[in-house]
Amino acid sequence: MSGLKWVDVPDGYHCPFCPDHDDEDFFVWDLILDQPICHGCSYDLYFALLEAGEENPIGTDLLNRLEELTGKPFVESALSLVRNEIAYLEKEENLQAEIAHPKEIPVPTRSEIERSWQEKTDHFKSVLVKLTKLAEEKK
Ligand SMILES: [Zn+2]
Repeated sequence: MSGLKWVDVPDGYHCPFCPDHDDEDFFVWDLILDQPICHGCSYDLYFALLEAGEENPIGTDLLNRLEELTGKPFVESALSLVRNEIAYLEKEENLQAEIAHPKEIPVPTRSEIERSWQEKTDHFKSVLVKLTKLAEEKK
């Protein structure tokens, strides 16, 4: 998930997606929303946006709330997210950084990292195709 930044929020701030309880960690996800949201919701929203092109998307409530907050169709947010992920994956320096400092445990081999990088890129590209279709249907 790129584009997420950890931020401090004033006392009593509530995440716009789950205002009924207190949260610990907040993030600003400027790609999607210019407003701090909690860690749990940012995670749920990420997957909801990736699944938005599926027939029975998960997290419909989250997506509806996102539309209220941003004032634009969720498919637009989903498209920016997926385009951003693809741009990240297509930068050779990011792959080289991952190979130099793998984040996974147990530490994968170079060829495993390269393979999974390619799989992720292919996956995001297929998500992009679905979302683009969805965006066109909604016009
Ligand atoms: Zn939340």
